[in-house]
Amino acid sequence: MTLEELTAAFQKLYKGQPRIYRAPGRVNLIGEHTDYNEGFVMPAAINFSTFVAITKRDDQVLKIHSDIFKEEAEIDLAQDATPGRKHWSDYPLGVAIKLKEAGHNISGANLLVHGEVPFGSGLSSSAAIEVSTGLALLDISGVKIDRLKLAKICQKAENEFVGARTGLMDQFIACFGKADHAVMLDCRSLESRALPLPDDVKLVVCNTMVKHELASSEYNARREQCEEGVRILSQHLPKVNSLRDVTPNDVERFRAELGEVVFKRCLHVTAENYRVLKAADALRDRDLKTFGKLMYESHQSLRDDYEVSYKELDVMVDLAKPIEGVFGARMTGGGFGGCTINLVSVDAVDEFTQTIKNGYAEATGKHAEVYVCSTADGAERVQ
Ligand code: ADP
Ligand code: MG
Repeated sequence: MTLEELTAAFQKLYKGQPRIYRAPGRVNLIGEHTDYNEGFVMPAAINFSTFVAITKRDDQVLKIHSDIFKEEAEIDLAQDATPGRKHWSDYPLGVAIKLKEAGHNISGANLLVHGEVPFGSGLSSSAAIEVSTGLALLDISGVKIDRLKLAKICQKAENEFVGARTGLMDQFIACFGKADHAVMLDCRSLESRALPLPDDVKLVVCNTMVKHELASSEYNARREQCEEGVRILSQHLPKVNSLRDVTPNDVERFRAELGEVVFKRCLHVTAENYRVLKAADALRDRDLKTFGKLMYESHQSLRDDYEVSYKELDVMVDLAKPIEGVFGARMTGGGFGGCTINLVSVDAVDEFTQTIKNGYAEATGKHAEVYVCSTADGAERVQ
């Protein structure tokens, strides 16, 4: 959809000439299950965005229409906030409510949301709708806040209003993404570093199209196992507050006491942090081969030590490995289904896509979706 088409669609619903904002989806290249352990992650913003067309109103009413759901939701910011309704509009309206709670004077507005980030596929459509809405509301209200604050308010909306326990990575990269770069984020200090990605590779996301029921209970179990690891290790290593403070050597040393399961979980997280740091060095040196090798190692560790992979994800990674022009592949996101991320040479993308689709259908009887992504800038006004 072009900006003209979005403007025309907006004007079918509401009067006036809208401003338009966008925020990107993202993919995490390496650093999985490290965020809640205060570790390192390395997302990149991608060229699939959520667009928000907006005009200011004279009252405090927010009307928001999604062109995907083809329905409108409304709240009056002058009234007391109601809790989330388990509805798509919880994401954007939650942002408005959290901005207001943080003391920002948000105007009423009419909004039309147009999303091109696939839902629930690990590309973070949720942060894209939150950040694009937040930026739009702030700008038309004439309120300036720094982007880190905006990212944190969007995360708060998702944690407290939507009710999803997520870290800051998605909102952070939606705000701070940079075209032609991945961003290494330290989830403890929130310091970040943009790392150049060569323009002759694409980030190809393969969706297994399965999401297992287990995903959220297993996610909570992993978080608890990490906490258990910290509890045990901190009895011996007094400076340990999270797995960020632990090395794989420490984990080996206390293996017996940790017990086999907690040992393996801690080993993944601590080794994964090192892999992210090494991957950052590899990008600095333009060494995609090493970067790709680290992606494979990450997958192996998620499969064997963290035990969050799933047969479909393993099939997808194994299919990618022998294809010419593939530097690396691994599962991305929480696991138990979802997507793999593949670093693929531009020339090899078509061949890659076909081989994956055919091979996946043959191995599983299922149809895979493949999204060929480039990197993109973070949120901005586009009209
Ligand atoms: P992910 O962030 O991985 O895509 P989530 O479950 O976190 O998956 O968020 C997806 C949800 O966000 C959707 O089910 C919907 O409620 C909301 N959402 C995202 N984009 C849009 C959009 N363009 N219009 C309406 N709702 C959206
Ligand atoms: Mg999400």
